[in-house]
Amino acid sequence: MKAPAFAYAKPRSLAEVCALLDERGETARVLAGGQSLVPMLNLRVAAADLLVDISGIESLRGVSVTADRLCVGALTSHREVEQSAEVARHAPLLAQAAPHIAHVAIRNSGTFGGSIALADPAAEWPACCLALDATILTISKAGKRSIPARAFFKGLFSTDLRPGELITGVEIPLTPGHRSVFLELSRRRGDYAIVGVAAMAKVQGGTLQDVRLAFLGGGDRPLLAVHAMKAAEGKPPLADLGPALAADLSPMADLDTSARTKLHLANVLARRALAALAG
Ligand SMILES: Cc1cc2nc3c(=O)[nH]c(=O)nc-3n(C[C@H](O)[C@H](O)[C@H](O)COP(=O)(O)OP(=O)(O)OC[C@H]3O[C@@H](n4cnc5c(N)ncnc54)[C@H](O)[C@@H]3O)c2cc1C
Repeated sequence: MKAPAFAYAKPRSLAEVCALLDERGETARVLAGGQSLVPMLNLRVAAADLLVDISGIESLRGVSVTADRLCVGALTSHREVEQSAEVARHAPLLAQAAPHIAHVAIRNSGTFGGSIALADPAAEWPACCLALDATILTISKAGKRSIPARAFFKGLFSTDLRPGELITGVEIPLTPGHRSVFLELSRRRGDYAIVGVAAMAKVQGGTLQDVRLAFLGGGDRPLLAVHAMKAAEGKPPLADLGPALAADLSPMADLDTSARTKLHLANVLARRALAALAG
């Protein structure tokens, strides 16, 4: 299928992007890497009168580090995140998760901000942002906002983004004492995850402190498993987080995997992740 006809604009400044999005309201869509939006237009599950291509706004691209945070620009490609020395040093969870995103050709074009805006519940970056306690930075004609990732993902492909708002980047607090592990199960390498976990903790005397477990594929949005985190806190890795995870996650059955199986797989991954953190 082909996409319905749309107009196309490639602004050269953030002010121009904001003006266009404000003027055209919900009939305009931001185009970043196009790896989700273009197939959605072609399949006619998304529509737009105007595509606002932000790929020319260089200030949205790249990774930078300050004294206490790492910033990933919205237009930074998945591949750039995967290969960034700053990311490997300051937020290794992202470097661990990146190879699980699709294939290299898609990672070369798809962007960090595009994945956060899309909010696919099976995507890697949104779950990582929860585990990393990241903040999503936005801009619109009305001004700038900083939204904690833990308040950003509202439901299935649904976020706190307001009409006319553009994600400019994501800020991640530096956590030098933490270890991180990213695990996921997918049917084939490069497929979206059936279920996955982004895990972080400090390890002191064989026990886990400040445990963070964020799941992808565990419900209609990326989910922080607060009951499981509480159960694991201050202890050596637990053998079974099943009851806690049943309170945290509501996986959706798909054609191949029942909700019950996904919950079981989440427990297996959580157990492996905690053991790896402590190991
Ligand atoms: C075959 C295939 C397999 C894939 N597998 C995976 C996978 O395993 N894991 C995974 O996470 N993803 C996967 N993807 C999706 C891919 O990661 C996309 O790159 C990503 O989801 C969207 O990024 P994009 O830059 O391509 O955004 P686009 O497709 O350009 O846009 C996606 C949506 O976000 C909006 N948007 C984009 N940027 C911004 C911004 N800065 N501010 C506000 N709104 C914005 C757009 O308007 C649109 O609604 C796959 C894609 C394909 C085609």
